[in-house]
Amino acid sequence: VTSPSLSSPAGAPARTRAGDLVVVGIGQLVTFAPLAEAQRWTGLTEDDLGALGPDAYVGIAGGKVTQVGRGPLPASLASLPRLDARGGLVVPGLVDAHTHAIFGGSRAHEFAQRLAGATYQEIAARGGGILSTMRATRGASDAELIAGLERRIARAASLGVTTLEVKSGYGLSVAEELRLLRLLAKARAEAQVTLEVTCLALHAASPEHPTLAAYVDACVRELLPAVAAEGLAQWADAFIERGYFGVGDVAPYAAKARALGLGLRLHADEFSDAGATGAAAAWGAASADHDQFASDAGIEAMAAAGTVATLLPGTSLYTAIPFADAKRFKRRGVPVALATDFNPGSCLVDNLALVAGLGAVHCGLTPVEALAAVTFVAARSLRLEARKGALVPGYDGDLAVYADLPDASHWLADFGRTPPSAVVAGGARVAGAS
Ligand SMILES: [Zn+2]
Repeated sequence: VTSPSLSSPAGAPARTRAGDLVVVGIGQLVTFAPLAEAQRWTGLTEDDLGALGPDAYVGIAGGKVTQVGRGPLPASLASLPRLDARGGLVVPGLVDAHTHAIFGGSRAHEFAQRLAGATYQEIAARGGGILSTMRATRGASDAELIAGLERRIARAASLGVTTLEVKSGYGLSVAEELRLLRLLAKARAEAQVTLEVTCLALHAASPEHPTLAAYVDACVRELLPAVAAEGLAQWADAFIERGYFGVGDVAPYAAKARALGLGLRLHADEFSDAGATGAAAAWGAASADHDQFASDAGIEAMAAAGTVATLLPGTSLYTAIPFADAKRFKRRGVPVALATDFNPGSCLVDNLALVAGLGAVHCGLTPVEALAAVTFVAARSLRLEARKGALVPGYDGDLAVYADLPDASHWLADFGRTPPSAVVAGGARVAGAS
């Protein structure tokens, strides 16, 4: 177990992969080399795709990209196992930087309640919502929770995702949050894809504590120190929203998390302007997520602090809440990522390519921005931009092959309909039929 460090909240890779592979016959290879070389995540133009092809190749040795080019295969790659892209598109492995993929039970009954006009907050007030999943999660065995998580990770991988952030948050007591985080840490050590683990203890009020302040205090005094001591998570998160946690409630938790070397990513201003984006920036958060009701001042603070805006349009599609306007963030120089927000209540959308399409149509991202938002910029939101989200020498050998899609414009217009024909993580095949 490595102890988290302040300078690199994401920590070391969970496991060493050593796959060797060369992908040949690529019609279009998206490298994002201009972004990776400049370590830049704003002001994107078509050139930033760093597209190569036709007849492009990617060589991976020891789990890392070693060579990228086009034309005849260099002798140094000739002996590697080959994967044929059959003239299709290859992109960096997709990065889903916001999921709630460990939980028990189902909230399908709430879907009909919402169709009958109930809001997210009204469903929660009736004992549904997050507390309903908390009860089902507490009632599930470790084996059941792990089996569900592994199913969801495998499904994400089949859709091109090679890096996945997963939050706790359905335990809602020190002991139950620790149980989820220990299961996630174990999954991280064993998964073929890269997992980033986030402690979302402040997801809703805890039934065991009489006040929000008492629960926050227990998290600060007991939970976060245990998380750091056991190396269970790389990140801490909180649901900052009217009726949940206010900025003042979360401040001691955010300060403790930072002091222990955990990075911060926060649920911010989804239903109302709770001042969360400004607070996220002030606390040095890597990412502020949702952001529909971010104030202008909050967005300007994010730009100054380098906080990524991670927009979650799948939730807007699923629950008919407003889409975030990416142009407000782009105009001020805030990097924009997209993620699924996959969770049992407010977003069953787990298809990140579909989310990229939603980000283009409903949030106002250009095609190149939409693809970067689920690869390189998403990696930046996880502080993994030095090794994820681009295909250049030295980066992790994570990629998705779409033999049936000729280029990136077809990928975006396809709206997530066509799954990758092959998915590679750390140079090893993890999904795909061919
Ligand atoms: Zn969320």
